[in-house]
Amino acid sequence: MGVVKTHTFSGQLYKVEEVNRIDGVTDTFDLPDSPEMMILAGTDLKAFHSAMHEGMEASGMCDNCLHGYEEIDSRLPRTWDVARFLWRLGYKRTKK
Ligand SMILES: [Zn+2]
Repeated sequence: MGVVKTHTFSGQLYKVEEVNRIDGVTDTFDLPDSPEMMILAGTDLKAFHSAMHEGMEASGMCDNCLHGYEEIDSRLPRTWDVARFLWRLGYKRTKK
């Protein structure tokens, strides 16, 4: 795994690290170094969602657009349903 090492979101270069745990954390722009992004390793839906969610976060989408936990009973971020939708349509990550 770990094919994508960096990616530019909205003009900002991110270091992309694949990890086995962690829900995914994206650094904020006020840090001096190039921001680092952590996404879940693997090919399952959780890993797929992690990359999608963190990418949207790095693109600067608003917190409530992505999360909105208080409005959703499941306490999952809003992006979870989008990930499931794409997954059902057949968008999946394959082993590299
Ligand atoms: Zn998030």
